[in-house]
Amino acid sequence: MTDYETVIGLETHIQLNTTTKIFCGCKADSWEQPPNTNICPVCSGLPGVLPVLNEAAVRKGALLAAAMHSEIRLTSYFDRKNYFYPDLPKGYQISQYDISLGGGGFLDLPMPDGSMRRVNIAKLHLEEDAGKTKYENGVRYVDFNRCGVPLVEMVTGPDLRSADEAAQYLIRLRQLLRWLGVSEADMEKGHLRCDANVSIREMGSTVLNTKTEIKNINSIEAVRTAINTEVERQIALVEAGGRVEAWTLDWDDALKRLKKMRSKETEADYRYFREPDLLPLKLDEAWRDEVLELLPELPLARRTRFMTDYDLPEYDADILTGDRPISEYFEAAVKAYGGDPKAVSNWIMNEILRMLNDLGLAADELTITPEHLAAVIRMVDAGTINNATGKAVLAKAQTSGKSPESIVEEEGLAQVSDDSALQAVIDQVLAANPDELNSYRNGKEGLFGWFMGQVMRETRGKADPQLTRQLLAKALKGE
Ligand code: ZN
Ligand code: MN
Repeated sequence: MTDYETVIGLETHIQLNTTTKIFCGCKADSWEQPPNTNICPVCSGLPGVLPVLNEAAVRKGALLAAAMHSEIRLTSYFDRKNYFYPDLPKGYQISQYDISLGGGGFLDLPMPDGSMRRVNIAKLHLEEDAGKTKYENGVRYVDFNRCGVPLVEMVTGPDLRSADEAAQYLIRLRQLLRWLGVSEADMEKGHLRCDANVSIREMGSTVLNTKTEIKNINSIEAVRTAINTEVERQIALVEAGGRVEAWTLDWDDALKRLKKMRSKETEADYRYFREPDLLPLKLDEAWRDEVLELLPELPLARRTRFMTDYDLPEYDADILTGDRPISEYFEAAVKAYGGDPKAVSNWIMNEILRMLNDLGLAADELTITPEHLAAVIRMVDAGTINNATGKAVLAKAQTSGKSPESIVEEEGLAQVSDDSALQAVIDQVLAANPDELNSYRNGKEGLFGWFMGQVMRETRGKADPQLTRQLLAKALKGE
């Protein structure tokens, strides 16, 4: 058996979340409205109209380029990509071909073994989206609402080595897009679309064999399944003495199957030429510097900093930089708390993230502030409340908007750590449950937890668990 290596390059189309479309004033976020209600003469390709470039699209595209470590070119050009398809009313797409906004660049992916895989960016350009077609009861319908929505197309080099790495690339790219605020990056909604170029070669070889292109991959899971399916097909084909042909394949996610669409077009088929209705895109250095100043600390850099500055494990740092609001929440809470950052990390990973998940919120939309969280952790540290009460107080602070301290005070939640008060409760629980007490004394020691539960119930969860355990153990033995 020959060992094969998989070689993958990804082509992504990223919808920029601008207010208006790239060459006209139509809304860019309304393409899910009733068909053909969000169009104008420009984006529906009527003759005699002229495109006007939207600066916000250039700005977001340039910010993305900067985050991908691409050069932001001060002069770039728009070109016509000619092809005939019903969802493209002009008969061409305005795109950027040879001299585009971004030049080069890379995205680093953290690998499970702690190393980094550098994925190079071969192309990064602006273009307009096409419309959509829909097939229903034997009729094909066309909806132009999405025509002219701004896109960045980004093409990687053949640098990914497995379906998992391809999925990782998309996960990190999605994280980056949301972090920058340039795209909603929801794959299911088509804000982030992906085609995969896949080929195989014998392990150790450096040639690039004929690749196939898989289109219509609409989720991270589909990326994994579609690529693995295609790799298996290519291996079986080559093992049987066949040759891979340059097909374009369509991924049918419902049937988990690849279907041949056509033999792949070559670039010459598109007859690219400069867009005569637009001037060259000229940016000045001051404008570029302004964009560069907007660039925040990137997720990967923040992840590394969390590991070094706060001594967090990689796992924690990864989760706490999953999105920008949670990373900011964490840092603010650490500052407010002043103690061990790992304690803050634990509370966020166990309690806050679950809360965000349940409520469907981002960290900056929570009622409880980082200062509230810090106050809860401090009260637990001081023994004023126990861990379980701390969690309950957090939940109450979220729904009521009150501070954790006032909740503890108003509801009398401070821990009962007074020996005699606790002893009285324990005596009362034992007296009320003679049968259980008997069973316990006759060897059914598993009942210890049940007695703990009774004491906690009587004290409404306020009993200091450690002290309760000591006193209860004595009382049950009859000491
Ligand atoms: Zn329009
Ligand atoms: Mn494209």
